[in-house]
Amino acid sequence: MESTKRLAALRERMRREKLGAFASLHLPNLRYLTGFTGSAGLLLVQAEEAHFYTDGRYREQARLEVRGAQVHITGNAGLYAAAAHRLGRVRRIGVEAPNLTLAAASALGGKEWKNRLLPTTGWIEQQRARKTPDEIARLRRAAQLASGIWPRLLKEIQPGKSERAVAARIEFELRRAGGDGCSFEPIVAAGARGALPHARASAQALRRGDLVVLDYGVWREGYASDMTRTVAVGRASARAREVYRAVLEAQLAAIAAVRPGVPAPAVDAAARRVLRKHKLLRYFVHSTGHGVGLEIHENPRLGQWTRRDQPPPVLETGNVITIEPGVYLPGWGGVRIEDMVHVTDGGAEILTPTPKELLEL
Ligand code: ZN
Ligand code: ZN
Repeated sequence: MESTKRLAALRERMRREKLGAFASLHLPNLRYLTGFTGSAGLLLVQAEEAHFYTDGRYREQARLEVRGAQVHITGNAGLYAAAAHRLGRVRRIGVEAPNLTLAAASALGGKEWKNRLLPTTGWIEQQRARKTPDEIARLRRAAQLASGIWPRLLKEIQPGKSERAVAARIEFELRRAGGDGCSFEPIVAAGARGALPHARASAQALRRGDLVVLDYGVWREGYASDMTRTVAVGRASARAREVYRAVLEAQLAAIAAVRPGVPAPAVDAAARRVLRKHKLLRYFVHSTGHGVGLEIHENPRLGQWTRRDQPPPVLETGNVITIEPGVYLPGWGGVRIEDMVHVTDGGAEILTPTPKELLEL
């Protein structure tokens, strides 16, 4: 059912762009278009038919999962050769440029591949940015599962515990609560290490007075969650409270700016305005947020917009995004606060219910 609608939207675009076929091999897109959850496949969509290629390992799984396309099991020649055979002399074949290697391009398009293949970017990702009610429900359940383990994690935040021990607890609790594992490697960054926005959990022990940045998420029913909280081990210093308050103010301002029709960079700008006021803007070194769904980072991106050749993305009802401003002071530490937000007709619905006042543990 979903498959039919999603393929119809792709075919509509293919007609507009006068494509004879479209080849997709990005796994999240395959899952979105056909339901296939395996690790290797290629979907060839034409005006009247669609063919899905995978290898022998997925014979049974493809039969059970794939909707909207005829399943073919390829032999040793591989997915591209099988699809190339079907393509015959078809010209103007849309391909996903970010996911297609040169080797795959020539296997798919033959000697004339440069003339036959039309590089595209983000066609299916754009569709994916606007979630259906079923997808929203899955994302909400993923976010709730991850928020649900938070009280148990707090017990782990004690002086002497290592960042790694906390990360291990996150992974364990997410699995135990029914998740399909972490949607990315958990970030646990204490003290000065908090100034590295993407620090890996290390052997470093938590110390009294540290701020600890915890950023983690779970896979559930195919969808990812993503949330960050920053807590203090023992009492937070005056400076830590000040920075925390500024980041929280920026995060709330960005959430308040979320509604359909607003350009994504305007939401980013709302966070930046607050951090500028607190003279912390130059320590905010990433963008304000990103879409989340079948991938942990997807459209729309909420950052500063510097391209002149394209308009920025505009928020739409059904987007699910993160809002995650942060401040990273070298040698001192960092604060980031991240929620998942569903863009609704009325504005924003926060999907991550975990409280945001500064906890001193
Ligand atoms: Zn995150
Ligand atoms: Zn994020």
